[in-house]
Amino acid sequence: MLSIVSTPIGNLGDITLRALETLKECDAIVCEDTRVTGKLLQMLDLPKKELISLHGYSDTKKINAILKRLAEGAHLALVSDAGTPCISDPGYQLVSVALRQGDTHQVEVIPGPSAFLAALSASGLPINQFLYLGFLPLKKGRQTLLASFTEEKRTIVFYESVHRIEKTLRELVGALRDQPNRDIVICRELTKMHEEILRTTVAELASISLTQKGEFVIVIGAV
Ligand code: SAM
Repeated sequence: MLSIVSTPIGNLGDITLRALETLKECDAIVCEDTRVTGKLLQMLDLPKKELISLHGYSDTKKINAILKRLAEGAHLALVSDAGTPCISDPGYQLVSVALRQGDTHQVEVIPGPSAFLAALSASGLPINQFLYLGFLPLKKGRQTLLASFTEEKRTIVFYESVHRIEKTLRELVGALRDQPNRDIVICRELTKMHEEILRTTVAELASISLTQKGEFVIVIGAV
């Protein structure tokens, strides 16, 4: 069995009962950073486990070794550093191949926190339909994508790192300058001690003072 397990995006209390049970019962945990997952197990008071690292760039050899363990009957849990595996995080290739070779094992999901879902829910914007963009491209296609936001009829949500937040917000104001009333919600450090949710508009964005620390999700209202 391969169990895809979501873990908290900040607040440990958001771990689910099924996630606790799975992380306790499994034979080994496939994770991004063994130090991060080791610490999570410790903080949740869970027993130490064998930790198998799997990065986005992990090669076929590594994935094949994990598949072999599954075929031999091991119960493996797949986690990322925080939130839901495969959502802008490693895991997709493993899940994809594991599903295709499902005659020897099963794949199950233990759903839970994800930063973009928390941001959408907290945004107060209509979210019956939304466009999730992960991280914006750094170069190729970036300006075209930003320009396309002027036509987007769904709520847009994407991730941004602390290193690029200022530049991205500046570019956003530029791209949406003809739509000053478009809603922008900046979610910082969701579920953590210094959580901040700023609800603003394109017109007001340039004058807001943003704490440039931590992790960010940006939500933009539809046209
Ligand atoms: N798989 C994760 C998920 O399900 O949310 C996302 C992983 S992605 C590599 C990491 C990005 O998610 C961060 O750079 C940030 O944009 C966003 N993020 C993660 N935790 C967050 C939090 N507590 N508050 C705001 N944004 C967060």
